[in-house]
Amino acid sequence: SVLLVNLHETSTGQLYDIKMISKFCKKNNMYLIVDAISTFLCDEYHMDENDIDVTIISSQKGLCVAPGMSMVAINSRILKERVMNNNVKSVYFDFNNYISNIERGQTPFTPAVGICMQIYQALKMIDKLGLEIYLERIEKKAIDFRARIGKLPLTIPKYPLSNAITPIIFKKPIAIDIFKSLKNEYDMIVNPTGGVNEDYILRIAHIGSNDFEDQKKLVECICKILVRYE
Ligand SMILES: *Cc1c(COP(=O)(O)O)cnc(C)c1O
Repeated sequence: SVLLVNLHETSTGQLYDIKMISKFCKKNNMYLIVDAISTFLCDEYHMDENDIDVTIISSQKGLCVAPGMSMVAINSRILKERVMNNNVKSVYFDFNNYISNIERGQTPFTPAVGICMQIYQALKMIDKLGLEIYLERIEKKAIDFRARIGKLPLTIPKYPLSNAITPIIFKKPIAIDIFKSLKNEYDMIVNPTGGVNEDYILRIAHIGSNDFEDQKKLVECICKILVRYE
């Protein structure tokens, strides 16, 4: 059997406990597949240490480049036990074909070459800076933002959060109005929330090229807009 989890639930900002999940899988003799799309390169992520068999990521979140590519990392356990003796009859997920092709330095199909080059640049940049420093900066931005909004009439969730985003919860159903005011009056784009929380929650990202000064300005603008609703 297998457990498939998304480690950071991006719609709510909640970061699940990988140690607990990993232990559960070990105890129940399950493979562990992690959708790490919005936690990889946002929070610490250790595939080997946590016995994660498969990791799924994509270009447009932690890597901060254009959408268009998804990558799957497979560990040697699941490769030997499940992938190598599996005869896939689809163009998708035929990992044996992909692996034999990459051994000759090629891909079986033409990939999104432009995005490959963007990913290469992004990884080179992170490598040059050092992964720890890169992640630390995102964490510091998250901490800085959460401290700054402490004085405003809104709350943040009490469950463990990823450093990728902070959901901010308004006391009144004004989230969409705030989103529009930020966009139209201040040229600032934040993430609205879909579903039942649409009217109450906005999500603020801490990844990418936005910096501490941008976050400071954003909080000041939210503060100015909120005065209208008192
Ligand atoms: C963004 C995201 C995806 C992929 O979403 P698309 O926008 O459909 O490509 C998948 N899982 C998680 C956890 C995400 O944050």
